[in-house]
Order: sequence, then structure tokens, then C-alpha cells
Amino acid sequence: MTQPIIGIDLGTTNSLIAVFEEGAPRLLANALGHRLTPSVVSFDDGAVLVGEAARDRQTTHPKQTAAAFKRAMGTETTFALGPKSLRAEELSSLVLRKLKDDAEAALGQTIRDVVVSVPAYFNQGQRQATMAACAMADLNAVRLVNEPTAAALAYGLQDREGESQFLVFDLGGGTFDVTVLEHFDGVMEVKASSGDAFLGGEDFSEALAKTMADKIGTPWAKLGADIQQQLRLQADVAKRHLSGKDEYEARIKIDSTHHGLTLTRTDFETACAALIKRLHRPIERCFYDTGLDTDGLDRVILVGGATRMPMIRQMVARQFRRLPEMTIDPDHAVALGAAVQAALVAHDRALDDVVMTDVSPFSVGIETATRLKNGTSIHGFFQPIIERNTPLPASRQQIFSTMSDNQTNLRIDIYQGEAPKVSDNVHLGRFDINVPKGKAGQESMFVRVTYDPSGLIEVEATSISTGKQAGIVISDNVSNLTEADIAKKLKQMQAFKMHPREDEANVTFMARIRRLYEMAAGDDRHMLQDILMAFEAALEGQDPAEIARMRGDMGETLDRIDDYYVS
Ligand code: AMP
Repeated sequence: MTQPIIGIDLGTTNSLIAVFEEGAPRLLANALGHRLTPSVVSFDDGAVLVGEAARDRQTTHPKQTAAAFKRAMGTETTFALGPKSLRAEELSSLVLRKLKDDAEAALGQTIRDVVVSVPAYFNQGQRQATMAACAMADLNAVRLVNEPTAAALAYGLQDREGESQFLVFDLGGGTFDVTVLEHFDGVMEVKASSGDAFLGGEDFSEALAKTMADKIGTPWAKLGADIQQQLRLQADVAKRHLSGKDEYEARIKIDSTHHGLTLTRTDFETACAALIKRLHRPIERCFYDTGLDTDGLDRVILVGGATRMPMIRQMVARQFRRLPEMTIDPDHAVALGAAVQAALVAHDRALDDVVMTDVSPFSVGIETATRLKNGTSIHGFFQPIIERNTPLPASRQQIFSTMSDNQTNLRIDIYQGEAPKVSDNVHLGRFDINVPKGKAGQESMFVRVTYDPSGLIEVEATSISTGKQAGIVISDNVSNLTEADIAKKLKQMQAFKMHPREDEANVTFMARIRRLYEMAAGDDRHMLQDILMAFEAALEGQDPAEIARMRGDMGETLDRIDDYYVS
């Protein structure tokens, strides 16, 4: 049996995995039968918990639990989980390993090759970290696909006739992406992509959490980190309710005092006014780059859980003067599209008539210097060679000359970004090229940048007088870790014992009881304590049928308490 290529949406809040089968993408369920696996990792007695159980431990065991680490991808930030300290790519690799295990169980097959989605606005470092996370999970990422591109693929498949220009507005848990695409008889072309890698649903929750703190009468900054975290979680719940109704009654327990807070949709929208404003800039940049105006758009598609907020839909409708579409669940579209991209990579015959093109999300260029009239030179300027939103593949060259008399060596420093000074852009790599001695400006060279759709960037310099060449290849397929580093990391990550799948429903159930116990009071607390004891006794009895029956019976009581205190 050939191994299927799988699509993965590695989200800030939730991750999903999908397979392309019989001409269509399909989401795969995790061990609990759910399609969304929270991107949360927790350590429990040496074993790693990923998903719902870990998410429930955010309140009960915050010091052993990490969430929203996608925002730190490609940085040196570490997350302390008990005695361990892990980077974002290591935590992501644990999520990926869990998705891999669950998908293998669902398909009855081993999985190696995957296509993973990333925000279009992820820079090379963040892309490399994502590739490294895959390698550490023993997965071979054959391609990274931009999230809005994946969403467009999921939508494009449903409607392959005619020509249309459409915009994908993707507001996830931690990132915002806006992309304009053209769709013509099965050919999809990305026209422009823009976004903000630090703006997402979590910021809306945080804004509401701060309003909740104001209502309680304690300034946000004066609250301890654990209370802030509790308010953030409560705000996330309130936010979801306010998507469906105008008012929500939140019950918060701080120390031993209970607070009942009435939150209105207007409160929420007022708290988020500055965030809504921040959404406009990437949209404007995207339209500036395409030269399109909003009237040129045929469809506007909403992706990402945070687009369920009415204020987002209203803002989009107002801005683009048309009702946005959400015919595919906004949480599912990216994973489904990643599976379509996986099938494209594997040349699935069902997709013979679908072609996908993409653009460079950032400008790529080199550092240059300028000589002033007084003879001194100032360095650190960015000279783009491939501009952002250039359709890929692309290859462009420019001529550069020596700056000083008798200069024999030229250093090429490559950067990615939009800032005029290289110090504000991302450094991608460097190399040197030798040139014959001569007067300043006498020796010149071509510097060519070639960017292919898989993210490979090749930079080559050719001395015009000697024809000598030098260059480097920068790739998000090859992370800055060497193969030996990856092998070592893979071993280290595999040494973390995953909680056995057969235990998962029970562990998740217990984590839920403990979370509710923290929230509840009085009789409900006693009831939860009784449920916990009865359930532990059932676990001791080791009769799987009895354990499953208790989970089912007691689940209703937990739902009621959850409803009252949290959701
Ligand atoms: P994603 O990264 O696409 O999974 O998006 C998750 C984000 O969507 C989180 O910030 C959630 O709080 C948010 N979200 C999910 N459902 C809703 C809802 N019904 N209303 C408002 N925000 C939601």
C-alpha cells in the first residue's frame, strides 16, 4: 500500500490533520473522536499530554503546560514545563507527533510525508522552525503551504468553473493573513498576501480579559499571572458566547470570592476597537500591491475561528461591500486545503486540472552602502531584488559595484523584509566573492536572486570582468540545524513518553473534573469530588466497559457544571 501524503494545519490554538482520498480531502479524528486537537502540551509525571487533556490542565497545572507557542516559532524563547524547558519548535513537534499517531491509528498506515500549512506572513526563520518541528516528529515535510492558499484550494475545488478574483481573510488564534487570489478554470494564482503574525483571536480574548479586570475593579497589571491566565480563559469562553448573543454573564472566582460579570457585545467591541484598526493596514497593503480595488473582488472568504466574531464579519462586509462567505467551517478549511496541496504534490489524477501558483511573501534583497561627499560611507541599507508579492518562480538580477579603491572582496548579505534599513529586516545568509583590484566603482557584478514556489531562495553573484561566481542556497527545507542536530533532537523528543492512546479518554476526563473543581463551589465541588473518587475506583477495577459507561453517565453532570461556570 502506498503511504498517503497528509495535510496538517498546525494552528496557534488548534491543529488538524486531513487526507486526500477518492478525489476529496477528509479530516481525520483524534483518539477522542474529535477533529480539532488543541495545540497545547502538558507534562504529567514524566508523560507528555497533548490536546484536550493538556488544555484542561492550563488552569490546574499552568506551570507544566504550554499553549500558543506558534507565536514564538523561529525565536529563542523557551517555555518552562516543570523541570523541562522547550522551544516552540520542540513543543510543535510534540503536537505533530500526536497528530501523526492519531492519523496512523485512523488510517491503519504509517505516515511520513506531510504538507504543513504556515501563515503566509511567516518569514524564513519561522518556516525553518516549522520544518525542524516536522523533522523532530519524524515527519518529512514535502512542502509548506501558506494558510490562505490552502483555504483557497479547499474552496476552489467546490467551484471550478469561470473566472473570479477572491480574497481570503484569515484570522486565527494568533495570526492574521489577507490574500488576494485569482481563480480561472481551475488555475489559482496568488496575487498578493499580507498580514500580521502577532494579531489573532487571542488578542481579542486578552482585550476582553482586561475589560473583565476593570469590571472587577482591579487593574490588569495588578493581577497575578495565574489570575490573568484564568481571566484569559474565561474571556475566551465569553467571546465565543458573544458571537451568538448580545450579553453574557461570566462567573469568575478570584481567591475565594465569586464575581458575576455582565459582559455585553458592545463592551467587547469597545475593548477591541484598536485591534480592528490594526486589521486595516495589511488589507490596504494587499490592495496597493495588486492594484485592485475592492469592487474588483468577486468573493470574500472567511477562514480561522476568530472570523466567527460578528464585529469581524461586519468590518469585512463594510470594507469589501459584500457578504463574506463561510460555507466551509472556518476551522477546517486550511487543513482540507493542505490535504489538497498534498495531493497536488503527489500528482493525484483527480487534480490534474488544478494548478496553483504562489507569491513571495516578503521582498528579498541585499545590504548596500552609500558613499557620502566627504568620502565616508554609511552602511546598512536594504536593496530589494525580488519585491514582495512577485509571482513565483521568479528570478531577478541587479548590478552592484565596488565601493573602495583596491577592494578585492565583496560581501553579500541577504535579507528578507520591507524596512529600508537591514537591521529591521531578517538576515537570511551571506557569502563573499573575490574581484580584481581596481578603482572604486570599476569592478561590478550581477547579483541574481531566484525564488521557487517551494521556498528555495538561491543567490548568486557573478563578477562581470572575470566571470567568476559565488553564491548560496537558502531553503526552508534545510533548517539551520544540521542533519546530525535533527537526528539528535528527534531522539530527545522521542525519549518523551507520550500518554498511551488507550488512556487518553480517561486522562482527559480526569483533567476536566479537576479543572471544573477549581472553578466550582459548594455542592458542585462535593459532587465533583465524588465523581473523581468513583471514577478512580472504576479505573482500579480495570474493566474498560464499566469505565466507558461511567464516563458517559457522569459526562452529563460535568456538562451541566461546565455550562454553569464556564461555557
Ligand atoms: P484557529 O487558530 O483558526 O483555530 O482560531 C482559533 C481562534 O478562534 C481562537 O482565538 C478562538 O478563541 C477563536 N474562536 C473560535 N470560535 C469562536 C467563536 N465562536 N467566536 C469567537 N471566536 C472564536
